[in-house]
Amino acid sequence: MNKVAVYVRVSTAEQAETGYSLGTQLKACRKRAVMLGAVQIEEFVDDGYSGEFIDRPALTQLRKMLSNDEVSAVIVYDPDRLARNLAHQLLITEEIEQAGAQLVFVSVSFEQSPEGKLFYSIRGAVSAYEKEKIKERSLRGKIGKASQGKIIADAKPFGYTFNKEISNYEINESEATIIRQMYNWLVTEKNGTATICKRLNEMGIPSPRKKKPWIVSAVYRLLTNPIYQGTHVAMRYRYQKVGLNKRVKTLRPETEWITIPVPPIVKPTLWQNAQNQLKENKSKSKRNLKHEQLLSGLVYCGKCGRKMTITYSGNKDQPKSYYVCISQRSNSTLYSEQERCPARRIPTELLDQTVYEHLYQLSTHPRLIKQYLLTRQNPVNTKNLYTSLERLTENKERLEKQQTMVLRWYRQQMIVEAEAERQLKEISDRIIDLEKNMAKVNEEITRISPPLSQTEILTVITKHFGQNDHSYEAKRSALQAVIKKVIAERKDTSWAKASRPEIEIELKFI
Ligand SMILES: [Zn+2]
Repeated sequence: MNKVAVYVRVSTAEQAETGYSLGTQLKACRKRAVMLGAVQIEEFVDDGYSGEFIDRPALTQLRKMLSNDEVSAVIVYDPDRLARNLAHQLLITEEIEQAGAQLVFVSVSFEQSPEGKLFYSIRGAVSAYEKEKIKERSLRGKIGKASQGKIIADAKPFGYTFNKEISNYEINESEATIIRQMYNWLVTEKNGTATICKRLNEMGIPSPRKKKPWIVSAVYRLLTNPIYQGTHVAMRYRYQKVGLNKRVKTLRPETEWITIPVPPIVKPTLWQNAQNQLKENKSKSKRNLKHEQLLSGLVYCGKCGRKMTITYSGNKDQPKSYYVCISQRSNSTLYSEQERCPARRIPTELLDQTVYEHLYQLSTHPRLIKQYLLTRQNPVNTKNLYTSLERLTENKERLEKQQTMVLRWYRQQMIVEAEAERQLKEISDRIIDLEKNMAKVNEEITRISPPLSQTEILTVITKHFGQNDHSYEAKRSALQAVIKKVIAERKDTSWAKASRPEIEIELKFI
């Protein structure tokens, strides 16, 4: 606080009264100035002037000083010393604040008084109204400028330089050459955006992002922006302020758009062909890859737990796709070299087929679902139980065969009745024993069985996989309905071309 202004006023009528005397006001204001740490106090005194009028000698001087000097605060006893009517109060308050000074009322109760509350709420409303006016005025200005064919704001489109004098773009020849090249690759050589991106990077052509490499989305934007055929669209987006620092961009209705002609970089026919080619590429790649992505979005890396995305290799006519740990995506800037996971990529076709067939199997053999789920929940224990159950079953089958054999021997009189009876008794005792054991094992299996979800999963799997529709759509929707996650890892270490990958899969059901 260096320079502080004090304003006091008293009207002729008030001079007779006490309480509002100049002396009282000055004393209170000076005290406040000192409290604010003022180094220099400038006093403005209107003695015998009504607050109805703004034209008062000391006030005029104060306003003049505000526009010339640096004043850190203006101290007034209370608002009606400044002005008697609201419009004037608003005006002077505005001037003081625009001068960068703080307006201080000594009667601290003002802000809390009914008048004070009214004053500030009106002031708030007025300034909001002013802001709207300014916005509206500047919008009208923008529309007017755009209607005259002038660029409102330089969006720095690649291929152009902004010429301030004519408010329009001029072609930047070196960048324009790159753009023409891109359109030709797309239309004449029928390259896809990914290929174009790759070619640009391989040729070391500088991207719009200066030192960073080209990215596919940027290539796509350049190939779809109508500016290159000579039309720039203004008033296309509306920007709205949300919260303190955020602005939201929304598309305006097409009727509000204003087209501004700019020098074209490619011929309109070439631009149109490019749009058609992009559409064709899109549907073609969808057709080609339809059957390779049954599980897209569901696969997670068995090594590190991150998501696996799809990557392509091979040529255009025979594209091959793979699920690959997201940390390995070459254009991913999220993961540094050390963070990349060493998991091998898995051919999508192989994983899709394996998972689908596995579920199809489960749906036809409910017993397998139970076994599968148990194995997942209590792997070691359950595995042992099932192994012993299998062994017991095999033994029982062997004993039953023996039973039949003994009976045959007896019928063919190879053994005597007593001997047959003895043997059959022994066998059936052993079978009873085995059955007791099997019951025990089954009991144990039931005991460690997962809760209810098992039957639910069984119902869902049977419902979705028990049908005979094996179309892509049916498969995809069945998988989506049943599976939450597929955790997969390629286990073999062979890199020979013909070797069949070994994959380990864990399914998480919905
Ligand atoms: Zn991984």
